[in-house]
Amino acid sequence: MSAAPARQPTRDDHRTGIGWDSHRLVEGRPLILGGVTIVSPLGLDGHSDADVLCHAITDALLGAAGLGDIGDHFPDTDSAYKDADSVKLLQAVIGRVADRGWEIVNVDSTIVAEKPKLGKAKAQIQQRLADVLGLDPFDVGVKASTGERLGFIGRGEGIAALAVAQLRGRNP
Ligand code: MG
Repeated sequence: MSAAPARQPTRDDHRTGIGWDSHRLVEGRPLILGGVTIVSPLGLDGHSDADVLCHAITDALLGAAGLGDIGDHFPDTDSAYKDADSVKLLQAVIGRVADRGWEIVNVDSTIVAEKPKLGKAKAQIQQRLADVLGLDPFDVGVKASTGERLGFIGRGEGIAALAVAQLRGRNP
């Protein structure tokens, strides 16, 4: 875990963080993206609920705050996080980031999936994430891309997500 900061961040402090995650698509699991269950014959496999988008956003927030990564906070060797609701993990990290004196300015994200098509789900995911993050949907980007049939994503073997988050110090 990272060392405690020497000072509290102020309004003049801005930080950007990046997050990336991918999970394998399998039968017999729900597909959950950004806390929204998507109709799909395949779902993402993982120790938690494998919500790849929440994991990428969680890492972006942690990175911006200099607080390590999701594995530092929620080890996948810990049975407490078996089938964990990733929205709850994200909420815990939002709390830890706030405790360090940061507020979230905006989050942007891209889901990379060959199937299913996410055009109709994007607005729903955006609203759900805005609610979780305590942001206006104006400040939450949810984009969808495909693998153009290239690589593991293009073959439909998995889904990836990328995110960036910007933080600003809360103190005057
Ligand atoms: Mg993950």
